[in-house]
Amino acid sequence: MIPYGRQEVSDEDIDAVSNVLRSDWLTQGPQVPKFERLVADLVGAKHAIAVNSATSALHIACMAIGLGPGDWLWTTPNTFVASANCGLYCGADVDFVDINSKTLNMDVDALEAKLVEASRLGTLPKVIVPVHFGGLPTDQETISLLAKRYGFKVIEDASHSIGAANKSETVGSCKWSDVTVFSFHPVKIITSGEGGMCVTNNDELASRMSLLRTHGITKNPAQMESTDSPPWKYEQLQLGFNYRMTDIHAALGISQVSQLKNWVSQRNQIADRYKMLLNNDLMSWQEIPRGQTSSYHLFVVMLKIVSGQTKKRNIYSKMHKCGIAVNVHYEPVHLQPFYKRLGFCEGMFPVSERYATETLTLPLFPAFTESEQDYVVSTLHRICEECQ
Ligand SMILES: *Cc1c(COP(=O)(O)O)cnc(C)c1O
Repeated sequence: MIPYGRQEVSDEDIDAVSNVLRSDWLTQGPQVPKFERLVADLVGAKHAIAVNSATSALHIACMAIGLGPGDWLWTTPNTFVASANCGLYCGADVDFVDINSKTLNMDVDALEAKLVEASRLGTLPKVIVPVHFGGLPTDQETISLLAKRYGFKVIEDASHSIGAANKSETVGSCKWSDVTVFSFHPVKIITSGEGGMCVTNNDELASRMSLLRTHGITKNPAQMESTDSPPWKYEQLQLGFNYRMTDIHAALGISQVSQLKNWVSQRNQIADRYKMLLNNDLMSWQEIPRGQTSSYHLFVVMLKIVSGQTKKRNIYSKMHKCGIAVNVHYEPVHLQPFYKRLGFCEGMFPVSERYATETLTLPLFPAFTESEQDYVVSTLHRICEECQ
């Protein structure tokens, strides 16, 4: 079976992990801060806080910003549920902004229109979470202008897009956002097994996020409320969590970073080759605006001949029968049963809904060979023609 995505683990990665297992530290040793420094420097951010998943990273980023009951968080329906769930974890309300049919990212015009309306109704969001779908950065510069005008904070969900660039800004530089979040889940660009990271240039947010990662506890006398601190003392200053990353995971992450540039360039080559080989009468794909660099976490096609779920289901199962595990990213979050129970329904975000009926994710990972890719393309063409 050819999967849609697959991690690469080298002998060097395995050695890096074994070395930690033989060391004095399994968690919260020297590897975590080393991984944090490495990623912060790589993306050009001042601070990095490593945690056990991007989901945790989104949660503590929202909390550090002060999102709470009575506030709104907006994100896109074309994402993994975690981009929305983080708002609900904080007791806030969640709403969505539809996607642009070409970039598949949050539509900035739709965002502006919704902000104008919310401003009139007094329901402006406190936090907006743009998602760099498939590795393509959202137009953060425009969103940051809206953030200034309407007074919201921006958390970039860059789970797909470490190694990508927004104009000349490396994703994660936080030039146009308050916090950027990365995921190191095995299907993503680089992995630590499970893991995530928040990066920010804001000292205050960084310090709150590191507290929230470990129960709200500090061992730093300068942060404590009591003035006389014996050497064994720690203080819990607020209600936090155990969201720590272990040194075992961090060592894998550090080792993987050395391949990031290579992998992003391989992913781009594979994507370019797809665009050359695929028949654009049968399908279209995500448009990459001039000046943007995608890290190509995903290569999705929109099948033009598909007019309903039955045909797509047919194509999906035929591809699987031929040994190609195509996937779907994403069924819109607002149509998940849980979100429907909160009041969302079909027809609310038509571009995302239509996109979801047409889309398939094709295999794309660094070790994907040209002959595998030829097979995927010819099989997809044959099946699409049969289903026409
Ligand atoms: C994978 C993913 C997450 C969650 O990442 P975890 O590290 O698995 O918690 C969040 N948002 C998006 C867009 C993702 O793809």
